[in-house]
Amino acid sequence: MSQTLTGNTRKVAIVTGGSRGIGRATALLLAANGYDLCINYLSNTAAAESVKEQVQALGASCLLFQGDVSDEECVVALFNSVDARFSRLDALVNNAALMLPQISIEQVTQQRLQRMFCTNISSYFLCAREAVLRMAFKHGGKGGAIVNVSSLAARTGSPHEYMDYAASKGAIDTLTRGLAREMSREGVRVNGVRPGLIYTDMHRDGGEPGRVDRVKELLPLGRGGQPEEVAQAIYWLLSDNSSFTTGDRIDVAGGS
Ligand code: NAP
Repeated sequence: MSQTLTGNTRKVAIVTGGSRGIGRATALLLAANGYDLCINYLSNTAAAESVKEQVQALGASCLLFQGDVSDEECVVALFNSVDARFSRLDALVNNAALMLPQISIEQVTQQRLQRMFCTNISSYFLCAREAVLRMAFKHGGKGGAIVNVSSLAARTGSPHEYMDYAASKGAIDTLTRGLAREMSREGVRVNGVRPGLIYTDMHRDGGEPGRVDRVKELLPLGRGGQPEEVAQAIYWLLSDNSSFTTGDRIDVAGGS
């Protein structure tokens, strides 16, 4: 149910990679439910501006932050800009990630691995660090919630397609578990969401725009998922409705 909150009673969330796909759907759902937003994105300013307009139309304030979250200086600047604009932080959605064209083990290069792991793993650690520095009781914070967007690929391993991507998501599941324990008495809950095949641009970037339709019949539900269906799980894990849940994860994967 949509809440009407004003002034500093609204919570503040950062969504990395919030300009498209799952991040965009999450930002809109949060905006409709009492959050002001900082939406981070890499380069697609038109998409980011469009989300900002939609977020504002829902009554939320919105700060856009363009920058690469695999870069430490950029992450620090992102969180500093949220301090300057909102003076509070309640939620982090670690969501920005990339997928590279499909390969098998014979085609793996160090350059590819560095890019993949920097973007998909380091960024989540760095953003989590900055969030904890603002949320944890021991740092003077009031608590908060972090959701790490992982992938069902962490379970399947994505053979002949994206083993590097799958491995990066395995690392994120481990981060979720460990950080939840580190933060368990600090007021910060940390959980994960593992989407399956979702209709977003990510599959185009992975070299196969029609991938969801090619494999959807293999899923028990017989269809691909929509970003909005993933956003619902992220929102629930950020909300007080999941107050006894930490270190856990929800698979949103059509029964796979
Ligand atoms: P997407 O549609 O490709 O959108 C990616 C978003 O991340 C965009 O906003 C992009 O910004 C941003 N981004 C990419 N690299 C970045 C960087 N280095 N720094 C800052 N922002 C960056 O992706 P999606 O499919 O919604 O995926 C979102 C999350 O769900 C990812 O963690 C992904 O691994 C996970 N997931 C997706 C699927 C699926 O089927 N789609 C399945 C399982 C898991 P620009 O718009 O500027 O490029």
